[in-house]
Amino acid sequence: MVKGILFIISAPSGTGKSSLIQEVLNTNSLFKIQVSISHTTRMIRPGEHNGRHYYFISINEFKTMIKNKRFLEYAKVFNNYYGTSRKKVYKLLLDGNDIFLDIDWQGAQQVRHIIPDSKSIFILPPSKNELYRRLRKRSQDSDIIINKRMERAVSEMQHYVEYDYLIINDDFKVALSNLKKIVQVAHLSRKRQIKSHNILIKNLLKK
Ligand code: 5GP
Repeated sequence: MVKGILFIISAPSGTGKSSLIQEVLNTNSLFKIQVSISHTTRMIRPGEHNGRHYYFISINEFKTMIKNKRFLEYAKVFNNYYGTSRKKVYKLLLDGNDIFLDIDWQGAQQVRHIIPDSKSIFILPPSKNELYRRLRKRSQDSDIIINKRMERAVSEMQHYVEYDYLIINDDFKVALSNLKKIVQVAHLSRKRQIKSHNILIKNLLKK
């Protein structure tokens, strides 16, 4: 059975990662794509829903899940724990869904190790100024907090070298089209095509 492809997508906040992911889900008609919903110990934000954006759980519950090996990967990001349920991911993949994992670089390292066929994508902003502008625009936070976010973003961006693909989100439409292209190209790899078309290929090569 041909299984789905796991796409790891990482980016610092302010790069438009969530909007890009959402827009692929809204407009893609070629593939079955699902976003994995992570578990987190962070506080729920206004407008978020338990079970839709995250499963919001306590630190004790998170630690029990770690102990019971329920996570494919987990990491501490900005003082909160985040983790991806192993069982859900494997079930979705086996059902033939592609999966978008919106996780940080630490989780990406773990997933690459466990699922070497996964594809990883890093999204970069077009400039530091633009990142600063986007972070400013989306929050009422003080300069100190925004500067802290910028520092974090720069340290996260150091990890771009570990990823298979890079997308610069300058023009949203271009970035969206590039993200969709990556998904399409991943489906055309020889390894996958052989699995999908093995009878055709055998017949073509018969002497
Ligand atoms: P936020 O709290 O703003 O939703 O997410 C903060 C960061 O945590 C983002 O970089 C996001 O990609 C990352 N993140 C979300 N879920 C997971 C997860 O399950 N595992 C890991 N390693 N990182 C996650």
